[in-house]
Amino acid sequence: MRDQLYINGQWVRPDLGGYFDVIDPGNGDLIQRVPAATEEDIDHAVHAARQAFTRGWGQSTGAERAAWLEALADELDRRRDALAVLEVRDNGKPLPEAQWDIADAIGCFRYYAELARELDDRQDQPLALPDERFRCRIRYEPVGVAGQIIPWNYPLLMAAWKVAPALAAGATCVLKPSELTPLTALELAGAAERIGLPSGVLNVVTGLGSEAGAPLSQHPGVDKLAFTGSVPTGSKIMSAAAVDIKNISLELGGKSAFIVFDDADVEAAVEWIMFGIFWNQGQVCSATSRLLVQEGIAAKLLERLVDETRRITIGPGLERGVLLGPLASAGQFQKVMGMIEQGKQEANLLTGGKRPPHLSHGFFVEPAIFDEPGENSRIWREEIFGPVLCVKRFKTEAEALKQANDSRYGLAAAVMSNDLERAARVANGLRAGIVWVNCSQPTFTQAPWGGMKQSGIGRELGRWGLDNYLEVKQVTEYRSREPWGWYIK
Ligand code: NAD
Repeated sequence: MRDQLYINGQWVRPDLGGYFDVIDPGNGDLIQRVPAATEEDIDHAVHAARQAFTRGWGQSTGAERAAWLEALADELDRRRDALAVLEVRDNGKPLPEAQWDIADAIGCFRYYAELARELDDRQDQPLALPDERFRCRIRYEPVGVAGQIIPWNYPLLMAAWKVAPALAAGATCVLKPSELTPLTALELAGAAERIGLPSGVLNVVTGLGSEAGAPLSQHPGVDKLAFTGSVPTGSKIMSAAAVDIKNISLELGGKSAFIVFDDADVEAAVEWIMFGIFWNQGQVCSATSRLLVQEGIAAKLLERLVDETRRITIGPGLERGVLLGPLASAGQFQKVMGMIEQGKQEANLLTGGKRPPHLSHGFFVEPAIFDEPGENSRIWREEIFGPVLCVKRFKTEAEALKQANDSRYGLAAAVMSNDLERAARVANGLRAGIVWVNCSQPTFTQAPWGGMKQSGIGRELGRWGLDNYLEVKQVTEYRSREPWGWYIK
């Protein structure tokens, strides 16, 4: 059990000595207590990250860093089963999902090892200029110290999405996991310690948003802030970054639409709609929580959808066969239940929305489907971040596109049709950073991830994820023997 902060390659107690409880959402029991870092600890961590950056990590080659990333991936791989079980206890998600997350996190470290190596080849490439007296080369240099703040829905995977590209780029990290799910991030620190990653390159500080996240976002020693979480917190992070013009990337919320046309296959549509909103208990930023279904197929599709939704096995994440676990926290349970109550005023509840009778402890809720909420209703407009789907019907393609885009968010969207030309046209018209055609949610480390509008700024994953932690430098040399001749003729 890890119950200390990982700063400068050492396990240390929090400066002010505070701890907070980590709760198992499957039964509401205490798992363990974890340090509540404060400003003082954040300051130590940022200082350690700066030292590590200037002491050598920032000047190392991509190939050297690739070797460390691969070692980190191997170390996580050795403990993948234990990590998956820990993730279930901490977050609640069903074990097969947690196993998938851990495998993806390991894959993410391996992928960025490859990109770190390629970065060496990208260095110092010449840039053609229209004046032959000059020669220009382009360098990609690490951004410096990265402050990274992550949410609770994919605890280790979100840590990997942040830490792997940062280390690949040559940046050093201060990672603050969510106070709701800090355990696997501490294990990541443990892996860093076991492989002997130079001290201060990766620091993991557990703590509350206001006590640890806020000072990290305000610290003048942080060059780059990378945040995943809610819009209100993202807005605070952006304000903090504005004070000393920190580089930022934000991955925020969503209320993504799934458009299903009449010509879609009903069974395939039902499967992807369910995966789009009930996977990870609907606690997915890109969840396709708004279903727009064309009138001709609506009745048949909804009947099958409700039927299959009622069959989902709900229970503790470690139980065999479970496909829907508890929500991640008591707070999230109350929030989702509150939105469901609100929804009952705003739409017709077709199924679910209550605590399953056989699960009296833990934060369980039956997956819910609401039919025809008003265009301006809260359940249609606001992110619920739970297993709650809202359905509306449409007649024409133009109408579907208009409704799908009518949101302050622009993270993701999905479209289903056998007419691939139409699907492509709709995909191009959707104002979202991620569009799925004939599916919803599959995510690949190679492809850019992020949103338009209030869903965020910048892209993670792929080479875009690496670029997040790189500064681009031009080195321009005057090669001519001729004097410049502006002042001195
Ligand atoms: P949150 O904003 O409450 O918390 C996210 C993190 O920010 C936590 O680590 C928290 O401790 C920290 N934090 C809270 N207040 C802070 C402050 N004042 N200063 C600095 N840090 C602070 O979000 P959450 O409830 O953990 O996550 C749910 C949200 O995250 C949803 O809106 C979801 O859509 C979004 N999300 C987005 C993506 C994406 O890739 N776009 C992925 C996962 C989750």
